[in-house]
Amino acid sequence: MCGIVAVSGAPAAAQQVFLGLYSLQHRGQEAAGIVAVDRDGSARVHKAAGLVSEAFNAEDIARLPGDTAIGHIRYSTAGGGGLQNAQPILVRYAEGELALAHNGNLTNAQDLRTRLVEEGALFQSSIDSEVIVHLIARSRRAGVEAQIDDALSQLEGAYSLLITVGDTLYAARDPFGFRPLVLGRLGEATVVASEPCALDIINATYVRDIEPGEVLRIRGGTVETLRPLPPVGAPRPCVFELVYFARPDSHLWGQSVDRARRAFGRRLAVEQPADADLVISVPDSANSAALGYAEASGLAFELGLIRNHYVGRTFIEPSQAGRDFKVRMKYNTVREVLDGRRVVVVDDSLVRGTTSRGLVSMLREAGAQEIHFRLASPPVRFPCFYGIDLPTREELIAAGMSTEEIRDFLQVDSLGYLSLEGMLECVAASGTFCHACFSGEYTAPLVDLERGYPAHVGCG
Ligand code: 5GP
Ligand code: MG
Repeated sequence: MCGIVAVSGAPAAAQQVFLGLYSLQHRGQEAAGIVAVDRDGSARVHKAAGLVSEAFNAEDIARLPGDTAIGHIRYSTAGGGGLQNAQPILVRYAEGELALAHNGNLTNAQDLRTRLVEEGALFQSSIDSEVIVHLIARSRRAGVEAQIDDALSQLEGAYSLLITVGDTLYAARDPFGFRPLVLGRLGEATVVASEPCALDIINATYVRDIEPGEVLRIRGGTVETLRPLPPVGAPRPCVFELVYFARPDSHLWGQSVDRARRAFGRRLAVEQPADADLVISVPDSANSAALGYAEASGLAFELGLIRNHYVGRTFIEPSQAGRDFKVRMKYNTVREVLDGRRVVVVDDSLVRGTTSRGLVSMLREAGAQEIHFRLASPPVRFPCFYGIDLPTREELIAAGMSTEEIRDFLQVDSLGYLSLEGMLECVAASGTFCHACFSGEYTAPLVDLERGYPAHVGCG
């Protein structure tokens, strides 16, 4: 997963984009980058590894003048490291300097890339997003907008996109609308961001969601909708954004993320009750769901696990520090809450099971007498090809084990998941969702997979 932000028509736009990225840090921690375009249409870029606060200092921002800027934060997906895969991508092409920032994963990037390479295209990175740049640059159509339209119409899969050509900004969402993208106003300026929390931090006001299949042209304060992309049927935004990815203070698709998670937790309490003394959350991602569980079950919500927010990178090798080192780096237990108690532990999702197993052993050491593990989403059985970093089927614990086998692996007294029907009923009012990771019902065609290409590096 990744996060993107754009500002058009504000002096020192890069500074606003920097703040926007700061509030989207949860969407990616591997690298951050900004491209700013000045009045003459010249673009400058700064990209670096790490958190937004590590990647930029005041001088870096000062070296990015201009009223238009786009930014990106990158999530670490398999094999995707290295600064050459950081975004925005900046190139010089026939119509001016072009910058691009992408959130989502294309499902036919390898197929398109093979064709482009055969035609002589030279790629500088291994990310799917670079394919889009080549498709625009190589389009035979006349004019930037026709070229963008030509490129986007060849893509399959997930993309929320920001593109600048000169100081004109384009924003687009794929026809399924897998990833979020919202439009905001900041005085006379226009802001586009993955989540509304990026608007809040710079005091911009939320205007509306960019629609699935919508392409916008933005120059300063003026926003125009270009020809929409051909529809694919009903939009299918990603339900896992509501489960895990988005920030609870964001609203996505007319839905409060906090309210959706609380509803998941309440429903989970009804479907999977537990005879226990208290409820704790695996912070932070499960906080809202655990509150919902406590509310519906009547059990007290307690803070039994404390998360260290300053983990960052470490020079200590896991082998030096013993098993479950990564989990111990991130979480501590509160013995006073746990000792001798029967505890419901609510987490938002179970992926590999490794973090949870480590947590369970820590909770036991802190004296928890019984552990009733509850997941505020169904078993994750299928990999995501649309941008969520859910690993191959072999690595997904629920793909190969029954619930009883997982209970045994985690060494918990009971294990219960929210049902798919239950989860979807909680969010039904805001439309139909993609839930391929739970159901295996893939929405956009998996072109690369079907043609036998190995897993590729997505922008996430
Ligand atoms: P597990 O026990 O399966 O190893 O880890 C479960 C934890 O991973 C949960 O707390 C959940 O919030 C978190 N999680 C779910 N999806 C993702 C993801 O895409 N990336 C990361 N880093 N964590 C995830
Ligand atoms: Mg979590």
